[in-house]
Amino acid sequence: MSSGEIDIFTILRERSERKREERIKLLESIGVKEYFADGNIIINSRICEGVECKLCIEACPTNALYWGYGEVKVSEELCIYCAACVLNCIVDGCIKVTRRRSDGRVEVFSNPGEVIKTMRKINSQKLNGIINRRFRSIEEYAERNLARKILWWVGGY
Ligand code: SF4
Ligand code: SF4
Repeated sequence: MSSGEIDIFTILRERSERKREERIKLLESIGVKEYFADGNIIINSRICEGVECKLCIEACPTNALYWGYGEVKVSEELCIYCAACVLNCIVDGCIKVTRRRSDGRVEVFSNPGEVIKTMRKINSQKLNGIINRRFRSIEEYAERNLARKILWWVGGY
């Protein structure tokens, strides 16, 4: 490339880098961390219950969703792909959230059941981690847990 030519790829890379930095700053200012490497959200306004519902707007923790021109709209720079909107949406397939974890795993949610399944999986992985750190075996954890429950039942806990 001669010195007078413009490298469009460098410009595009710089622009997306700048956009990412601005997004991080914006999220930081509302006290939210970015958890996913990448993501995407699509709202199907043709099947949305819209004005009668707006549950997704209420559920969104970052105010990324808003009501505009008779439909639910999204500010992509505020969306952290948490899927709280999918969890609260009353129409299956109306909101589709796709996200990529830093280890490359891709997750797709388009109905509450899919979100709940992933939440359960994450919770059980967390619990397994705690058990492995705190107890010598799963049997020891079960014994202690049972003892705690019995104490709670008899009112001594
Ligand atoms: S995925 Fe989370 S942050 Fe994005 S619009 Fe839905 S509720 Fe809001
Ligand atoms: S929760 Fe679903 S159906 Fe209700 S307004 Fe949002 S996108 Fe539409």
